[in-house]
Amino acid sequence: METINFQQNEFYYLSKLLPKSYKKRIIVLGSGFAGISFVKAFVKNIGSKLDDVELVILTRRVYLTFTPLIYQIATGLLNEHHVLEPIRKRNSDYVIIEAEIEEINLHDKKVITSLGSIEYDYLIIALGSVSNDLGIKGAFNYAIPLKSVQDATKIRNKIIESFEKASILKKDDIKRKSLLTFVIIGGGATGVELAGSIKDYVNLLCKRYYNVNSNEAKVVLLEATDRLIYQASEKASKKCKQILEKSGIEIILNAKVISIEKNKILLSNGSVISSDNIFWTAGIKVNPIIEKIPNEVALKNKGRLVVDRNLKLIGYTDVFAIGDCAYIIDGETGQIVPPMASSAVQEGKYVAKYLANYFIGKQELNPFKFKDYGLMLSLGRFSGLVDFQNKFVISGFLGWVLWRMVHLLKISTIRNKLGIVFDWSMSLLKRRIITRTD
Ligand SMILES: Cc1cc2nc3c(=O)[nH]c(=O)nc-3n(C[C@H](O)[C@H](O)[C@H](O)COP(=O)(O)OP(=O)(O)OC[C@H]3O[C@@H](n4cnc5c(N)ncnc54)[C@H](O)[C@@H]3O)c2cc1C
Repeated sequence: METINFQQNEFYYLSKLLPKSYKKRIIVLGSGFAGISFVKAFVKNIGSKLDDVELVILTRRVYLTFTPLIYQIATGLLNEHHVLEPIRKRNSDYVIIEAEIEEINLHDKKVITSLGSIEYDYLIIALGSVSNDLGIKGAFNYAIPLKSVQDATKIRNKIIESFEKASILKKDDIKRKSLLTFVIIGGGATGVELAGSIKDYVNLLCKRYYNVNSNEAKVVLLEATDRLIYQASEKASKKCKQILEKSGIEIILNAKVISIEKNKILLSNGSVISSDNIFWTAGIKVNPIIEKIPNEVALKNKGRLVVDRNLKLIGYTDVFAIGDCAYIIDGETGQIVPPMASSAVQEGKYVAKYLANYFIGKQELNPFKFKDYGLMLSLGRFSGLVDFQNKFVISGFLGWVLWRMVHLLKISTIRNKLGIVFDWSMSLLKRRIITRTD
């Protein structure tokens, strides 16, 4: 009797699904901002020549996460489905395979996945990054990072759980204090937005749903350097601190966390912060799949794949790296292109045009040039901040309106746009999601 090996069977399925044809196969790894902007722009640019090409997306989950809004899931402002954009479309021009990518073999031109391996002619690596615990003991055991929708729901569940527990304890109970202390570690763009929104959420929970005085609930933002949002101008950074402090958030700069224990943060100056709610927004590092590629096979800088001026991997003519996993120097300014959604989208579009031009026999493109549109932040109810290319800063209500308009425009499906407008309207009426999902 033949024994069926599940792995082998799946591999058979994959090779049957995609037998290699005469067509050139382009595999896109990842369905984030970089990968999906590549796919959309490639289909548009190549036109009818698409018939000569087989475009394949390999990704863990068949959707794009609109990360700039996930902190709003953590704070009950948005429903999680409204920030997930499905990539499966009716009559789409590409093949999608949902699988876990395990290894990239640049030598044999194949990708090893949980369903088996698959060969490519051209490869677009857009695998993004992962949260970085910076080697701090206990960081990921006791703090919840914010990188995915799943992380965001964990944070929301934790906040609600803490309120449930605190509300039945006596006011002078020391545990109640820890349950009502919310600490965000990392004062970058994600950290400040999360802190501002948690403050609003906590105020709402106190006033509307639980028998807790808002003065009892404390939101603390810890930043290891001497200023918030290091990538913004000093003016924007100061303004951001002012706005958050005015809303009642305690900001501690130069706060170097040395370890995290259960409900406890230890700082290098010897102080200890007790909290049941520790959230981590202190940075990102390269995807482990990129780490696995030996250094002698692909040049790396800070773990990211170094690319040339056309975003091709150094030493390769058929492999491109875009988004957070690529180390890109802007040809004109000599600056490192920041790992952001806006840069990932520009890089995806550039490579799409470059490769489409090649297939239709058009002229080679000029080197990639990054357009910096500045930084936009939402810092709480009716409060925003726009740092436009380090030239001028818009803050307050106008900054908040601009932030909302720009983010809504960037959402690509009508369903999600309407969903977000609904959720935001409800929050203006002080109604947020207050139910746990775990
Ligand atoms: C909370 C948060 C807020 C942010 N806010 C902003 C903002 O306001 N503005 C801004 O410009 N940037 C923001 N960013 C940064 C932005 O999200 C990233 O720079 C951007 O997502 C990078 O795009 P990418 O395509 O390189 O990676 P991602 O968007 O992360 O996509 C990576 C893709 O690879 C897939 N993948 C990874 N590993 C595997 C594997 N082993 N197998 C299969 N598939 C895999 C993932 O599922 C995903 O589809 C934010 C990031 C976070 C976490």
